[in-house]
Amino acid sequence: MRRYRYLAFILFVLMIAVPYITVFIFGGGRKTAPHTDDPVRNEIFDMEISLYRTKTKKVETMSCYDYICAVVAGEMQANYDEEALKAQTVAAFTYMVNKMNYVKQNPDSDIGHNGAYVCDDYTHCKAYLEKQDALKKWGDEWYEKYYPNIENAVKESLGKIITYDGSPINAVFHAVSNGKTCSAYEVWGTDVPYLQSVDCEADKTANDYESKVSFTHEQFSDILYEELGVVLPNDYKTWLGEIKTCDSGMVSEIVIADTAYAGTHIRKMFSLRSASFDMEVTETGVNFTVRGYGHGVGMSQYGANEMAKKGSTYEEILKHFYKDTKIEDYKI
Ligand SMILES: [Zn+2]
Repeated sequence: MRRYRYLAFILFVLMIAVPYITVFIFGGGRKTAPHTDDPVRNEIFDMEISLYRTKTKKVETMSCYDYICAVVAGEMQANYDEEALKAQTVAAFTYMVNKMNYVKQNPDSDIGHNGAYVCDDYTHCKAYLEKQDALKKWGDEWYEKYYPNIENAVKESLGKIITYDGSPINAVFHAVSNGKTCSAYEVWGTDVPYLQSVDCEADKTANDYESKVSFTHEQFSDILYEELGVVLPNDYKTWLGEIKTCDSGMVSEIVIADTAYAGTHIRKMFSLRSASFDMEVTETGVNFTVRGYGHGVGMSQYGANEMAKKGSTYEEILKHFYKDTKIEDYKI
């Protein structure tokens, strides 16, 4: 009899323990998303996202909540105000939804992701900084102090989406504008009604607002030769021609030794922080004075934080940078 009791006990323990252990080892990974009182939002938090990792060349899946937390951690300074972090959350989610819809609607098209919705390359999609990498990059103190702010912002705003004319927008953003954001037309040559130039005077107060980059005459001409095969005349005084700027102050066109270049092209060739710059050629070399950081289109993250510090909500911030848009509930 005692033996039966003992066997029954073992069986009981196994019945309880095995499912727990199985879930813990195999199934628990994705269930990290926090739950709200709203079942619709919970579904969005748990939505499965596929991400192409550029280092391992593998597609990983994770919950939408985990993905967006890692994007906000990778894209925005974690010590920014909570309303700015929420604006970043909604912009990142809107961007992701656009990519996801595209991949779902065009299953045969190759956007370089091996079928995943997004990748972790910030120059192609969005930066992605997982918890353990954030801890390594930021250190214990910064991580413990600021990572919870990101999670709180995501918990409170994930599920909202920015729309124009009923469709999710292309929610692009940059670090610091030159004091005015650029329109999509100025930078990419395509007019987008909600990506127009807007004032962002506060950006001029950013610590890294202005940057200076200098090249010797030789370095400058070598870069033009290596990139485009252009040979500059010996007399450096003839190099610099007319500089044209757009309404936002970005260089639209600059003439160097009788050839016109787009400001964005010069930015790329000389690794300038933005295409809003002055250039001078002196006896000793070529000097660039650059204003702002990034392509300048859409939301300025620094500007978003300044607005948040002055009391703007994330909805007000987003509506300032993305003209005539609405902030709506996302429907799966
Ligand atoms: Zn990508």
